[in-house]
Amino acid sequence: MGEIKAQPPAKHTGIKLTKPKVVAGGLTAVISSMKHVFGEVGVASGTKTMLKINQFHGFDCPGCAWPDPDHDRSVVEFCENGAKAVAEEATTKRADAAFFKKHSVVKLSTWSDYDLGKSGRLTEPMILRPGKTHYKPIPWSDAFKIIGNQLKALPSPDEAIFYTSGRTSNEAAFMYQLFVRQYGTNNLPDCSNMCHESSGTALTETVGIGKGSVTLDDFYKTEVIMILGQNPGTNHPRMLTALQKAKQNGAKIITINPLSEAGLNRFKHPQHVGDMLGSGTQLTDIFLQVRVNGDVPLLKAILKMLLDRENEHPGTVFDHDFIRQETAGFEDFVADLQQYDLDDLIAQTSVSKDKITEAVELIASKRKIIVCWAMGLTQHKNAVDNIREIVNLLLLKGSIGKPGAGTCPVRGHSNVQGDRTVGIWEKLKPEFGQKLKEVFGFEPPSKDGYDVVEAIKAMKEGRAKFFFAMGGNFISATPDTELTAKALQQCDMTVHVSTKLNRSHLVHGKTALILPCLGRTELDIQRDEKQFVTVENSTGVVHQSNGGKIPISTHLLSEPRIVAELANATLSNSTVNWEEMARNYDKVREAIEKTIPGFEDYNKRVRQPGGFYLPNGARDGNYKTDTGKANFTINKNPEHQLANDEYLMMTIRSHDQYNTTIYGLNDRYRGIFNERRVVMMNTNDMEMAGLKQLDKVDLVSNYDNEERVASKFIVVPYDIPSKCVATYFPEANVLVPYNQFARGSKTPISKSVVVKVLLCNKN
Ligand code: SF4
Repeated sequence: MGEIKAQPPAKHTGIKLTKPKVVAGGLTAVISSMKHVFGEVGVASGTKTMLKINQFHGFDCPGCAWPDPDHDRSVVEFCENGAKAVAEEATTKRADAAFFKKHSVVKLSTWSDYDLGKSGRLTEPMILRPGKTHYKPIPWSDAFKIIGNQLKALPSPDEAIFYTSGRTSNEAAFMYQLFVRQYGTNNLPDCSNMCHESSGTALTETVGIGKGSVTLDDFYKTEVIMILGQNPGTNHPRMLTALQKAKQNGAKIITINPLSEAGLNRFKHPQHVGDMLGSGTQLTDIFLQVRVNGDVPLLKAILKMLLDRENEHPGTVFDHDFIRQETAGFEDFVADLQQYDLDDLIAQTSVSKDKITEAVELIASKRKIIVCWAMGLTQHKNAVDNIREIVNLLLLKGSIGKPGAGTCPVRGHSNVQGDRTVGIWEKLKPEFGQKLKEVFGFEPPSKDGYDVVEAIKAMKEGRAKFFFAMGGNFISATPDTELTAKALQQCDMTVHVSTKLNRSHLVHGKTALILPCLGRTELDIQRDEKQFVTVENSTGVVHQSNGGKIPISTHLLSEPRIVAELANATLSNSTVNWEEMARNYDKVREAIEKTIPGFEDYNKRVRQPGGFYLPNGARDGNYKTDTGKANFTINKNPEHQLANDEYLMMTIRSHDQYNTTIYGLNDRYRGIFNERRVVMMNTNDMEMAGLKQLDKVDLVSNYDNEERVASKFIVVPYDIPSKCVATYFPEANVLVPYNQFARGSKTPISKSVVVKVLLCNKN
């Protein structure tokens, strides 16, 4: 039968290298968008669909969670990667019964993630029975019965895991957590565990809410925008429009990143003729090219230099009124900071003192500062410290809870924030548990469930036997690919609700099922009534998403319908009217309104164009922390003792990628074409290691005396600080140990993994 491949094949596709770009957007972005949309969906249907994306009565982009303008949306309210995300979902290609008859699971597992994704939309429920080689069609009713029986047969509900990817709508997510908690467990790991969990942990502790405090409008009122560990040109491209407008309004931008990214350097807005004919807008004013995981020492150096200036000219740098009235812990924070030696801090950053001084000069005189960040800060052992240090800076400047100022963790998945808001979390908030009890008359489980790391461990140790995923691609998103694969394959059953084929369907339990659901772009009709779902973006706006396309198959079900059927097949004497909820999503929203603060008049307010803002204490200066104030914190510098032949590796996305979905093989802004198995290295480091451009190498990590190997990567010389290397995920995820994670948030350390780069002897 042959072995199932958990990793993408170590095959090369004919690499081509050019000089990295210094400008993002422009005509190339337009052409690339059209190629993807017209190629997958067709010109007429593609154009019609793209004119609906992010419009008030259209559908929400299934890409990232960058906010839409509250008013005045442009006709083309999407970016190149939004176009790719829609093209992927609205493709006319179909991975149907004939497809699965032709291709065995083992064979499919030898395909690249790109080829798997390009096989098209799933069209009907499929089952892979124990010992069989091919998925076969199965009627929905039989599928639900089989899953329900499996769940009912488990000795304990805690042997089941229910994963959520951030594409799931508020309505489906609320019903899903309600079903899982009625079933009797809090095993609700989600993709947020692997991305902004560190942000949530740090922000909840320091300002009382795990979400960003700014709105889109704040970008147009701010004086300084600091961007750390984020590459918006690829991961949140419409953010470049906001940065351009901020610049036009006089703001300055400080970028802190190991890589000089085109999207942070200069932007040509495809809808601005002046930009298209000219050279576009310079974005970054000050670029601090920090080494991987050098953020805390760099921020401390900045804080220390600000303190020195404040001491030289009291009251000119710090906002003492704000500090006195709104914060706690200032004295301890200053006392701790004074213990650090400035030059020692700077030595841990790879950034020159002059450059840092330039940034300090700018920050010292400003009061309205926004700090944005993404995975480059959240996936390290000290990730929570990274974000706490950012908050320290904002508190010193009184730069939170007012226009033009605050925190901005930019979410990578369209509704990852919404899912958490409506209850998808392995920890049940007592007040939410109490509301569920009051409204639905049952006692929800109070014991914490498994997050992603714990879920892998539980499956690995045989404590969990059932894995259910609402969307996503667990095996490719998680760390420690080979170990996680074995854990999944130990399960008696794995079930995936999906729109497209991916590697997680191939790395399966003894019995495996695929349940194909409606896409974001597609019409959702329940009892002849058109339904809409809702999502929440990075700035806490809850708004509608209305699919309008005829579904690619008549056999698809909506996510809420799937949850309702699952609940009816599993739960006996449930107190919830699942059928009513699946027929009319207003009923789900009524339930959310009754159980979660901030959703008053949900059905009425979400029908207003653009939806509504959820309350945000940090935005309103109402800090729900243990002190009732915004908290200064004391943080440690990271410690990385690298041997001579060791490097700190960060896994990143290419420009033709969204999370684990591979749109293409090019990373055009970085000048890397037609290849994904690359390792970007500093040219001096290459020389020291005796490596040349295009050499084939194996990457090796060793944690707890366990060696992990990612084989046959191609060496690409790149402008990256010494002793740092960059690779793409999921190809390099095999090197990331699942049990090495951020303190406090347990987010895997995908951005700072110690690796060796060894020449392949098969060169
Ligand atoms: S910025 Fe994000 S949400 Fe907006 S169109 Fe692009 S991918 Fe979609």
